[in-house]
Amino acid sequence: MSVDSTIKGYYDKILNRNPGEPEFHQAVHEVLQSLKFVLTKDAHYDDFGLIERMVEPERQIIFRVPWVDDTGVVQVNRGFRVQFNSTLGPYKGGLRFHPSVNLGIVKFLGFEQIFKNSLTGLPIGGAKGGADFDPKGRSDREVMTFCQSFMTELHRHIGEYRDVPAGDIGVGGREIGYLFGQYRRLTNEYESGVLTGKGLKWGGSLVRTEATGYGAVYFTQEMLSADKQRFDGARVTVSGSGNVAIYAAQKAQELGATVIAMSDSSGYVHAPDGINIELLKDVKERRRGRMSDYAAEVDRVTYRDSGSIWDIETDVALPCATQNELDGEAAKTLADQGCRYVAEGANMPCTADAVDVFRRRGIHFAPGKAANAGGVATSALEMQQNASRDSWSFGYTDKRLRSIMSNIFQTCATTAEEYDQPGNYVVGANIAGFKKVADAMLAQGVI
Ligand code: NDP
Repeated sequence: MSVDSTIKGYYDKILNRNPGEPEFHQAVHEVLQSLKFVLTKDAHYDDFGLIERMVEPERQIIFRVPWVDDTGVVQVNRGFRVQFNSTLGPYKGGLRFHPSVNLGIVKFLGFEQIFKNSLTGLPIGGAKGGADFDPKGRSDREVMTFCQSFMTELHRHIGEYRDVPAGDIGVGGREIGYLFGQYRRLTNEYESGVLTGKGLKWGGSLVRTEATGYGAVYFTQEMLSADKQRFDGARVTVSGSGNVAIYAAQKAQELGATVIAMSDSSGYVHAPDGINIELLKDVKERRRGRMSDYAAEVDRVTYRDSGSIWDIETDVALPCATQNELDGEAAKTLADQGCRYVAEGANMPCTADAVDVFRRRGIHFAPGKAANAGGVATSALEMQQNASRDSWSFGYTDKRLRSIMSNIFQTCATTAEEYDQPGNYVVGANIAGFKKVADAMLAQGVI
């Protein structure tokens, strides 16, 4: 990775102090590359140990999660919660259950979360957590037992005013239910605001399930509109078929686009006539099936278990699965085939090389910390409803989400212009997210 001299000192320290955490290095590198524009203009941000403090989590918790599987065998997983920055509000960020989870991945996600949460304009700090537990293929009883053991340790560290976890990969409504139940049992209190993504009958918010996917499409809609384009008639490729992907696909089709491809970690479906969203939801949400199951039930689609979803010719690409799923080669293929817009529904799905290709080829690119902020923003709206013992309608909550995404887009666009980088939403998002947190950190002293 090439490193500008203004930020080299900071980056070298990160590499030395955090060995073996490539995703964390990548996330910090991207932010530092944008901050060089700030540091040359406003030198005081280079003082008070501000950047050193910002890249060091306030607290990192690692714990054993023992549980008994359906065959009576004791399993041991590792749990994490990285409480990165609470300058703007209680720590907030999801929990990921996936075999790939390790400290470096949780730190990259927690670091991104600081700036994302700042961009929403809502009073929330940044955190992330999870475990190297794989819910795939596990029975409901096993998932419940695991969640109860995980919460038995985590409950000491969270709370409505301290840290408010939510879902992420592998953690949906079912897992949040089991986690909340165990928290309530351990604390003997009904503290609704301790977790978000709750069920609608017990403190959840309408639109939270849809929020990240819808929000990513609202952001993309703003980006298209700034380029005098619309979703209507566009071909859209969405990677993944989880929570973010399903609702991004749904909203894109509602706005007149055709979602021509979706995937999971086993393969992808090419559907030139569009995705049947109701069937997809039935397969993925109700039956917990695979994209191959979806493909088996519809005509005129192709399922492939090799190759790349990014080989398909498309106008808009929405990577909504996982980090580093779209590399430089895939970016070149997309560009060669005429793709003009890419927005990250997932966290850091595009490698640094891919983002470089987008910039050189004039592709409009929305970074995840801006484009997928709708999920956490709606989580903050859930916290507001819990605090006031209220519940808002779908239409009202969706309107709030739409307006938050529009504000985030405007903030990114105007900040990029202010720093002479018009249309560079990466720079806009990083600088705007950073300055709000940095100013608050300076006001609150060296802590
Ligand atoms: P889900 O678990 O609901 O879905 C994840 C999807 O991505 C699945 O289709 C999964 O396929 C696929 N996937 C996961 N890992 C890989 C891999 N290594 N290679 C290929 N495909 C993979 O997660 P979410 O939809 O909640 O999250 C998706 C992304 O969005 C993540 O980056 C997350 O951090 C980010 N995000 C999520 C938010 C939310 O509100 N849920 C908020 C903001 C960001 P398979 O089933 O085969 O594993």
